[in-house]
Amino acid sequence: MPKASKEERADIYRNHRVQLLLSKFMSGELSKLEPVYDPKFGYTYPIVEKIVGDAPSANELLKQLFEAGVLKRSLFDKFVRCLHCGSANISVHYCCPYCKSFKIEKSSLIEHVPCGYIDAEERFQKQGELVCPRCHKAFTKLDVDYIKAGAWCTCSECGKSFDIPVVSHFCRDCHREFTFEEALYKDVYSYSLSEDVMQEAALSWTLIAPIKEFLENCGFRVKSPGFLKGKSGTSHMFDVTASRGGKGQNITVIDLAASTGDIVPEQTVIAMFAKVYDIVPDRAYLVAIPKMSKDGKKLAKLYKIKLIEAKDYNEAIKGLKACIKNSFTEETFSQSSHKREQA
Ligand SMILES: [Zn+2]
Ligand SMILES: [Zn+2]
Ligand SMILES: [Zn+2]
Repeated sequence: MPKASKEERADIYRNHRVQLLLSKFMSGELSKLEPVYDPKFGYTYPIVEKIVGDAPSANELLKQLFEAGVLKRSLFDKFVRCLHCGSANISVHYCCPYCKSFKIEKSSLIEHVPCGYIDAEERFQKQGELVCPRCHKAFTKLDVDYIKAGAWCTCSECGKSFDIPVVSHFCRDCHREFTFEEALYKDVYSYSLSEDVMQEAALSWTLIAPIKEFLENCGFRVKSPGFLKGKSGTSHMFDVTASRGGKGQNITVIDLAASTGDIVPEQTVIAMFAKVYDIVPDRAYLVAIPKMSKDGKKLAKLYKIKLIEAKDYNEAIKGLKACIKNSFTEETFSQSSHKREQA
């Protein structure tokens, strides 16, 4: 399956329309997005159309989300479209293989078991009963004294009979006919959310969007994900980076670690420290949902990474905001006292 990078997906999650659609999956309102039949377009996704405006945009968005690995898809149906006008309002014509006319009569081939006579059903019909034309016995029970031996067609145009017709299509909109070879045969999919994306997406906007907004209101330039080059020359990615003042000044880095279990492992602290050691930001925050392991807590303290534990996203945002505000007042205080000392 094609998959976008974490950065590309983060970009996708920032799209408000994507957020609206994915939130339907994440809230449980939608577990599977199934198409709804529409004679004009074949199939449509009304839920997506409501978000993006029209059917072509809805298809475009779903394709983009599938290609990025955000949505999974499975084949739901196939449908025929008119090669002349594109309509999906198509009927099937079974035609005579000899003269191609669709004016054919379809019946069943019947075999009278005792005498072995086989013919089309109508040849057996006699005053509302089925009677064998060869031995003149009346039929009693299907599959006992007579059996259906397949389909049998007769062409009203050329009079020939056959068992397998050729398929042709008739467009109910433009009234033109086209063959199976000419038909546009399209896939239609149902969609569901990739499990591994669920958490990533949840983090990306339920957590990152409000953090970003808060930092921007505080006068920071914010990137998510943000890339910073360290002393070693290596570029490191953080879930959020924020800077204020001149280039490379007053840098805040934030990483988020959510565990589906009870405890976030200390490896997340170690991984963040490796980056922080190289970057040397002014402030480093690690948000652990719901709880950091004991060793992780010790390490964070040792590495001077400010740890925010929160049982859910709302608590995480609150905790982070409080921490950042706190550090501002401390800094402002030290700056102003520094100024007073200078004066
Ligand atoms: Zn047509
Ligand atoms: Zn018979
Ligand atoms: Zn014919």
